[in-house]
Amino acid sequence: MSYDSENIFAKILRGEIPCNKVYEDEHALAFHDIAPQAPVHVLVIPKGPYVSHDDFSEKASEAEIAGFTRAVGHVARELGLSAPGYRLIANHGNDGGQEVPHYHVHICGGGRLGRMLAPRD
Ligand code: AMP
Repeated sequence: MSYDSENIFAKILRGEIPCNKVYEDEHALAFHDIAPQAPVHVLVIPKGPYVSHDDFSEKASEAEIAGFTRAVGHVARELGLSAPGYRLIANHGNDGGQEVPHYHVHICGGGRLGRMLAPRD
């Protein structure tokens, strides 16, 4: 799957549409999910044009991977989630239920999150 530069997170990165920003550095941008599914639900996206974890893990540089991974951890700590705990989710493709084709990690926390996966239909 090739990268679609008109996806909504690309527009957020270019400043064409707003986001509720939590953190930004050279490699990553973090912002609150528009439709939170947990008391704390923040998305962290890399700044490069990667469709998903599949794409990112194959093509991103070591510096991008390290920078992004450190940003996810930093954001979770800044949100106060280290002690109580949190869950990271990265959906890829149809079976993963990915909606936005720009790689993102969901940081979910702020309370007990329940089962890791919903029962299958
Ligand atoms: P996924 O299903 O993993 O692709 O998740 C996409 C997430 O992006 C969903 O949780 C949406 O609620 C969220 N989302 C979509 N548009 C926006 C937006 N403009 N700002 C913040 N979050 C968004």
